[in-house]
Amino acid sequence: MQNPAFQQRFIFLARRFIAGETVDEAMRAVAALNAEGLAATLDFLGEDVVSPAEAEHTRDAYFELLTALRERGLDANVSVKLSAIGLLIDETFALTNLCAILDAAAPNRDPFVRIDMEGSAVTDATLRVFERAYAHSAHVGPVLQAYLKRTPDDVARAIALGARVRLCKGAYSEPATIAYKEMPTIRRAYLRCAEALLEHGTYPAIATHDERLIDAVKTYAADHAIAPDRYEFQLLYGVKPALQRRLVSEGHRVRIYVPYGTHWSGYFYRRITERPENALFALRSLISR
Ligand SMILES: Cc1cc2nc3c(=O)[nH]c(=O)nc-3n(C[C@H](O)[C@H](O)[C@H](O)COP(=O)(O)OP(=O)(O)OC[C@H]3O[C@@H](n4cnc5c(N)ncnc54)[C@H](O)[C@@H]3O)c2cc1C
Repeated sequence: MQNPAFQQRFIFLARRFIAGETVDEAMRAVAALNAEGLAATLDFLGEDVVSPAEAEHTRDAYFELLTALRERGLDANVSVKLSAIGLLIDETFALTNLCAILDAAAPNRDPFVRIDMEGSAVTDATLRVFERAYAHSAHVGPVLQAYLKRTPDDVARAIALGARVRLCKGAYSEPATIAYKEMPTIRRAYLRCAEALLEHGTYPAIATHDERLIDAVKTYAADHAIAPDRYEFQLLYGVKPALQRRLVSEGHRVRIYVPYGTHWSGYFYRRITERPENALFALRSLISR
């Protein structure tokens, strides 16, 4: 559970990586990104919900968010964590909530709904729910994590389905039996999956701030005559903003993952643990404002 009083003392630190706590703040952040040629995907923060009422509250927050995006005509879709809409309670309950979000997104400028990938305890369940939702609407796609040894098979399955994949390295602590632990190996695994998706997949999202990987993807696409409108780069809100803008100026499609809401502690913790300097970085950006 969140402790609002405790959180309020630290929100100033998280501000570097989250757009705010309200829909209005999220809309302002997306409008500012759109003005710079960056698309967005919005995440209403929250995960590991164990009460049906809370899961439905999250689903309803997505309805509100999708209405706000539609009214403002912004260039943004949404990202959803299945554990926030009931996956840990019941798979079919999570599927029902996901399909309701997909239906609510259907009239939007961008009706796509991305399913974020969480820890390995829920990989199979997440992919099962994705495939059932995909039978309901093709405007849904999973995230696959290059650090998992199983991922080439999941990439092949997504390609066979024609589903849109976001490829990332992976943000959770996983055992060496199922996940690569060394960065050069993860990078090689990432690139192999990215190449398969670029060549045979449907509009893959290359989600990374790793400039070696970004350069390798650009080179692969150019060498194989894969036009820049057949894929997009994705980066996190507040991370490497100069790189975000440079990619746009080079003619690439770029989407920024924009989290917002009051339940930001888990998300912020992952950003700090993948790069401990972020705590200092957030403090410094506050002081130099
Ligand atoms: C759009 C997007 C969506 C994602 N969705 C998921 C998901 O659904 N499931 C999941 O498990 N993971 C997700 N991730 C997180 C991802 O798995 C990695 O944990 C994260 O992106 C860091 O890996 P990297 O590829 O950027 O490479 P890294 O090697 O970690 O970073 C490359 C360089 O980028 C910079 N950098 C990286 N992260 C940060 C940061 N937080 N702050 C400041 N600088 C940083 C550093 O300078 C670093 O040297 C997502 C990432 C992105 C960009």
